[in-house]
Amino acid sequence: MMAAAPNATLPGATLPASTLHVVGAGVAGLAAALLASRPGGRAARCVVLHEASPAAGGRARALPDGTDNGTHALLGANPAALGFLAEIGAREAWVEPEGETLPVHDLAGGGLRRVALSPAGWRDPARRPPGLGAGGLLALLRAALPGRHSTVAEAFARHPALLRHFVEPLTLAALNTAPEEAGLRRLGAVLRRMARPGGCRLYVARRGLGPDLVHPALETLARRGVVFRPGRRLRELERAGGRATALGFGGTPLPLGEADRVILALPPWEAARLLPGLRVPALHRPILNLHFEHATGAGPRFVGLLGGLAQWMLVRPGMVSVTISAATGLLAESAESLGPRIWAELREAARAAGLPGPWPEEAPPCRLVKEHRATPAHLPDQPAPPPLRPLRNLALAGDWMDPTLPATLEAAIRSGRRAVRAL
Ligand SMILES: Cc1cc2nc3c(=O)[nH]c(=O)nc-3n(C[C@H](O)[C@H](O)[C@H](O)COP(=O)(O)OP(=O)(O)OC[C@H]3O[C@@H](n4cnc5c(N)ncnc54)[C@H](O)[C@@H]3O)c2cc1C
Repeated sequence: MMAAAPNATLPGATLPASTLHVVGAGVAGLAAALLASRPGGRAARCVVLHEASPAAGGRARALPDGTDNGTHALLGANPAALGFLAEIGAREAWVEPEGETLPVHDLAGGGLRRVALSPAGWRDPARRPPGLGAGGLLALLRAALPGRHSTVAEAFARHPALLRHFVEPLTLAALNTAPEEAGLRRLGAVLRRMARPGGCRLYVARRGLGPDLVHPALETLARRGVVFRPGRRLRELERAGGRATALGFGGTPLPLGEADRVILALPPWEAARLLPGLRVPALHRPILNLHFEHATGAGPRFVGLLGGLAQWMLVRPGMVSVTISAATGLLAESAESLGPRIWAELREAARAAGLPGPWPEEAPPCRLVKEHRATPAHLPDQPAPPPLRPLRNLALAGDWMDPTLPATLEAAIRSGRRAVRAL
């Protein structure tokens, strides 16, 4: 892990004349720092990465005991994210748990089906999502056209089977918003990317977000001389004449020189607190993750579930993790109330998919992680993001800053890079 520089060792006077301050060490901030510190890159300058919490990763982080806050999956449709992993030397750590086809188990009696993870594979009716006949395909193609303003559910109202078996799970996973309220435009952007060769391939971290994302990113930044400052929350941003003039972390503010630059790679509510009047998404949707102790050495394996509470299960050695997106109705639940219900679903799906390991009737101990503001709600009338550079020497980054994609790792990484280029 890279060494952290305490505040006291970083008075403004000791920094080089041209410093880039990246505030927020989520994936957007990590991507910004990575590009800005690229050897020989045009953007190269002294880079300091400030983070409020004790560790990096933000909404894609390892908890103190090493468990992921929540399962993160990537698609072949995420070239920026896969490129980011390659740059930090972690590309090989993200593996395809299922290969060519994804097992999807229908808890409402529909049994298990293996759906091809490529449009070409859908030529085989047995590997095609149910409802994907000629009419369904046309509806998908129409949905992929830019500029559509309806909800996802409206666009697929005449294709209920396709909506249930393919469009709804994809919308929940990619937009973290229920199809009844999700805007079609952002789903269309996802569909266009998935149609590219390899765009549907599915990747997960073999061990977890700590060893396979956050640690290698910090190690790469450390090798490039980036200073990481965890436990330092930006409390105030001083500005004058259209420029940011000082960063307040508590104590004496850090003055900004003429050549210094700032990237705020923060969640929208923090960006709006520091820059009052900024137009940011106001509505968010939660994601719940349950992590069950599980005595199997197998994995990773990944199974989709329909017709129950659980949406995806990821089996890794020692643990099975469950994702429930757009889980507003479940926020009041506890691990004790949800655990046994979810475990019964997992057990059925695991047996149908032939997953190895004991799947006892009694639910093993589980941990519930609630991310209340996991992503913005992606509604049809979602306002455009604010200007990239609200101040002359300051740019904004964060998953919510992407004008077309839903708030995901891909959007966060693109936004971090865009902010560096803008400065
Ligand atoms: C449970 C869950 C599952 C998800 N699953 C997927 C998935 O499968 N695939 C996918 O692509 N995406 C997924 N996402 C979305 C993805 O995690 C986010 O889009 C991405 O991590 C956002 O990164 P970010 O850097 O924009 O924001 P954040 O991760 O929120 O980073 C902001 C950082 O700023 C710090 N900060 C806040 N205020 C201050 C301050 N004042 N001063 C200094 N630092 C501050 C925060 O501590 C944080 O580290 C998931 C999200 C969640 C929560």
